[in-house]
Amino acid sequence: MSKIQMTTPIVEMDGDEMTRVLWQMIKDKLILPYIDLKSEYYDLGLKHRDETDDRVTVDSANATLKYGVAVKCATITPNDERVTEYNLKKKWKSPNGTIRAILDGTVFRTPIMVKGIEPNVRTWTEPITLARHAYGDVYKNVEIRVPGAGKAEIVFTGKDGKEIRETIFDFDEPGIIQGMHNKDSSIKSFARACFKYALSEKKELWLGTKDTISKTYDRRFRDIFDEIYEEEFKAEFEKAGIIYFYTLIDDAVARVMKSKGGFIWACKNYDGDVMSDMVSSAFGSLAMMTSVLVSPTGVYEYEAAHGTVQKHYYKYLKGEPTSTNPVATIFAWTGALRKRGEIDNIQGLCEWADRMEKATLSVIESGRMTGDLALITTNPNPVRMGSEEFLDAIAGEFAANA
Ligand code: NAP
Ligand code: MG
Repeated sequence: MSKIQMTTPIVEMDGDEMTRVLWQMIKDKLILPYIDLKSEYYDLGLKHRDETDDRVTVDSANATLKYGVAVKCATITPNDERVTEYNLKKKWKSPNGTIRAILDGTVFRTPIMVKGIEPNVRTWTEPITLARHAYGDVYKNVEIRVPGAGKAEIVFTGKDGKEIRETIFDFDEPGIIQGMHNKDSSIKSFARACFKYALSEKKELWLGTKDTISKTYDRRFRDIFDEIYEEEFKAEFEKAGIIYFYTLIDDAVARVMKSKGGFIWACKNYDGDVMSDMVSSAFGSLAMMTSVLVSPTGVYEYEAAHGTVQKHYYKYLKGEPTSTNPVATIFAWTGALRKRGEIDNIQGLCEWADRMEKATLSVIESGRMTGDLALITTNPNPVRMGSEEFLDAIAGEFAANA
């Protein structure tokens, strides 16, 4: 059988620990036998980031801007223990943060649904994708513990020296105050990334904020989304048969719980932080959650939502059996290669991705799964498989349906 040929490379960002082990197995068992893989390889393993003074992370992000599609393995964000463990020159920044800043992107997280792993919300029959704005608000706030009586004001001083001043509160006792900001440019990028992604997925897009109460701050999000939608995306949305709509965040929450799923939910930074944990746990497992970073210009970086599964890796190093779930990492690869296929018009790549995802889910539906899923499945007789055994089962299923 001849292998599927690619015309443009994808950017491959290798990573750390157990997910690095799975990464190689996925390539060997599921990808390389079928695809003549063209990838520009960047080793984002912590050791190599340290050796290159983290240059490799920046280079991989720039390559992503060049080629348009990347796939990333989970990576360690070093803390003090890691600095000792890996004898690092310094506590390097989170690669995801660095890449997100360079791509100016928004992260979309979508659960992978499969029979036997049922969402806790009965009505959810399709996945809900959460888009979190990842800049500003309470994450870049300034806070003051007010010691006693006094006047709190908010002041903006323009370049020309002109002041805008408002009273926050006249305190006659101790309390607290907080200052937050966001930037039009960041909200615009967020909006464009959301509209682009909704079009690429052909799913409707919701935005919820609290603009009845926050008439300037939250309203600005609504207005920017409205403007960009009207000016740049409305015609394309209509052509694709999808809609964009704004609703109050509390109404959005109520609708989400009663919905069938199948839409993209754009959230401000804090709402996205909270709601993504709620949505992902209600769908089942972090190991079944995909994540894609989309730039406002339509550049895509696919990864799993979970980390490097450190505990399993230490077992693996000791030669003990592991049962680590590779599904989100497989779907990062299928997502990236399908996108490459769509952009380059290579039908074979898209078909491979569809079939590989189907084979993966069929194995789980047949009752064969990793330990994390065996614990939560509604299947009465699950077979708990090791990491490699499970990948072999997927390879077998794929080959059987070739
Ligand atoms: P983690 O790797 O997500 O794992 C936390 C726990 O969740 C695991 O111990 C395991 O539970 C379970 N789990 C996660 N993924 C699983 C999978 N695929 N299969 C089976 N079980 C899975 O988070 P962490 O241990 O807090 O972080 C480890 C490293 O990952 C850290 O250095 C962190 O910086 C990094 N990290 C990277 C990313 C990223 O690159 N996107 C994201 C998050 C964290 P049990 O032990 O109970 O089996
Ligand atoms: Mg959180």
